[in-house]
Formats: sequence, structure tokens, C-alpha cells
Amino acid sequence: MNYKYHPTSDGFYGEFGGAYVPEMLHANVAELQEVYQQIMDEPKFKQEFDELLRDYVGRPSPLYLAKKLSAKHECNIYLKREDLNHTGAHKINNTIGQILLAKRLNKQRIIAETGAGQHGVATATVCALMGLECIVYMGAVDIKRQAPNVARMKMLGAKVVAAESGSKTLKDATNEAIRDWINNAEDTHYIIGSAIGPHPYPDMVTKFQSVISEEIKHQLKEKTGKDHPDYVVACVGGGSNAAGAFYHFLHDERVKLILAEAAGLGIHSGQSAATSILGTKGIIHGCMTLLMQTGDGQIIEPYSISAGLDYPGIGPMHAHLIKTGRATVHAATDDQAMQAVIALSRDEGIIPALETAHALAILDRIDFKKDDDVVICLSGRGDKDLNTFIDYISKD
Ligand SMILES: *Cc1c(COP(=O)(O)O)cnc(C)c1O
Repeated sequence: MNYKYHPTSDGFYGEFGGAYVPEMLHANVAELQEVYQQIMDEPKFKQEFDELLRDYVGRPSPLYLAKKLSAKHECNIYLKREDLNHTGAHKINNTIGQILLAKRLNKQRIIAETGAGQHGVATATVCALMGLECIVYMGAVDIKRQAPNVARMKMLGAKVVAAESGSKTLKDATNEAIRDWINNAEDTHYIIGSAIGPHPYPDMVTKFQSVISEEIKHQLKEKTGKDHPDYVVACVGGGSNAAGAFYHFLHDERVKLILAEAAGLGIHSGQSAATSILGTKGIIHGCMTLLMQTGDGQIIEPYSISAGLDYPGIGPMHAHLIKTGRATVHAATDDQAMQAVIALSRDEGIIPALETAHALAILDRIDFKKDDDVVICLSGRGDKDLNTFIDYISKD
């Protein structure tokens, strides 16, 4: 088989990907490129990773047939319950993998960037577990908006550093983290939280998250006798939960891959994070991909009610999947996502994260057949968004 959706040895997915880093980071990135696959393939590494996923994270996460949602859309809808993982989302799968890798590389110090704080919490959690120093960069504006997650990180012993430059949000926190890495390249590992960044990060994060589709395959077979769904649907910020949910189906063309991105107040409202529609080719945070930028290459600040989808770029694998037609993208507005949160809460008794709700909000645009098996990656739980929900409900 031709694995055309896997990266080349230098990290290219078609025209996207690569590693565009400043000279001072070259040695670190080159070291990772050289050893990551070899370390991930070590039986001892795999065993440790699997054990922690099972006993600490609580995997496998259930695959749940949502009956009311299925009836509504006239097909079989299964929810892959990443919301039930320790810390409340899929992000912990990646941070467990990367902390084990950092230990193999003898790094003493961990840095991370975070927007909504979910990746910061997942990183602070594994640093506490392994006894490593943890510094999380977060935009000053986000620190104010996401107070409960800042408190969680501090409880876990992490140092949260405010990024005061630019718009004081995720992209500025990422810039600060990269600056830190340049200054402390020797003893520091940078845990990137999505399937973005310079090679090997997109591939490494995708592989740590691929446990999601591996489990879907087995669980679906057990429930239906079929080892593949007809559709996999996932929301996309940088793209890590989608990458994990798609991975083992990428080259199985019977499986349709659907991405849901954030349209904010409307795709063309000027207040949006619909990267794949509005984005053009360029370099962001070390990789060639689709990003929202002005004619002279300045990043356009994205907007979404969900902080986890509020990123101006998209992973290079996703850019390639979209460009080649392998994946289809739909965009949901803030309002549509909110309606989807309320619907799932009332119909199924599950309060999803606002990010995840974008994947639920686009279902009525797809023409499902009665016996279609549809898997939705329920990337996280909505506890962190309760204030946003309550403000929204009380507006009516
Ligand atoms: C961070 C986050 C996302 C978006 O990140 P991806 O890398 O695109 O998966 C989606 N859902 C939840 C619950 C998140 O915390």
C-alpha cells in the first residue's frame, strides 16, 4: 500500500510540514527527529506508555452508542468518550507519551504553551507524576479568562508565566515558549500540545493520540462485527484529537473523515477561526501549513468562543488531507456550538467541551444513510466551560 497520508522522512505531508526553526533550535529538533521513532518503538517504552494509559488515564475510553442522537440523525452514532480520561480530555494521551520521551532524553525541565489551559493542566499533571520542573506559558488575557485551569496548574506545582506581548493569547504564549527553548535548549523538552510545530512534532503527537482510533477499531468490531466506521467526525484546533481518531483509518477509503472547525461569529465576519477556509499557505510555529495571515504574512488573530479552537493555523497533516480531498471540513459558529452543547446535555446526559460541540453541531449537514456507523470523537468534557454556558443560557 502507498501510505500517502504519512509524512516523508523529513516531515512533509505533500506540500505541508517540514521543520522551519531558528538555527539555535536546530540541534534540539534534529535530536528529536533522529530518536523519536526509535524510542517509541522500544518494547519497554511501549509497555510503560500502555500501562500509564490504562492505570493512570483510565483507558480504554468507552465507545458509546448514543441512541437519541442516533434517532435524531437517522444513523448509528457512537461517541468515543475521551471526556472520561483523567484531566477531562484527550490531551493527556500526548503528554504521557512526551514526558516518557523527555525522561529517555534526560531532560530535567519541561515547558509548554497553553490557550484554554487544558494542555497546561495535562502537562502539569505528568510533570507532577514524574517529578520534573514544569513551566507553562499562557497569554495574559487567557490567564484572566481561564482562572480555574490556572489554579489547577498551580495546585499541581507548575509555574505559570504570563505572555504579555501581542494579543496576549495562545500564539504569543507559543512565541514565549519557543524563546525559552532557545535559551535553555540543553536541559529542556518542549511539550507541544497539538499536531503542529516543526517535524517531528506533528507525527509524534499523532502517534501518541492514535490510541484513539486503535481502540475505536476494536470496540466497533466487538459491537457491530465491522472493523471500520463509515464516518469519523472530530473538531479541529491544531488537530491532535482528529489526528488520533483518524490515524488507523487514513488509508481506508471506506471511512469518510470529517473535520469541524470554529466559524466564531461567522466565517467571513472577521471574528472566526475557520483556518482551512480562510487560511493560505505559510509558515507558523515551525511548519508549512494553512494559516490565517495578511497579504504580507502577519498572523491574523483568530476568534472562537472555545479557547481550544482559537488557533490561527492547522496541523500540516490536516492541511494535506483537506487539500487532497481525503477529509471534508465544515465550520460551526459559536451559536451552533452552544446549541449542540445544550442538546447533548439534555438528550444524552453528557456535557461536552465547547470545542467538541463543534463536531456535534455540523452533523445535520451530512446526508447519513440508515445503517451508517458514525463515530464522533468526544474530545473533552464541559466542566471548564460552565461559566460560558451559564452566561449564554441566562442571556435568553
Ligand atoms: C485542546 C482541545 C481541542 C483542540 O485541540 P486539537 O489539538 O485540535 O485536538 C479540542 N477539544 C478539547 C476538549 C480540547 O481540550
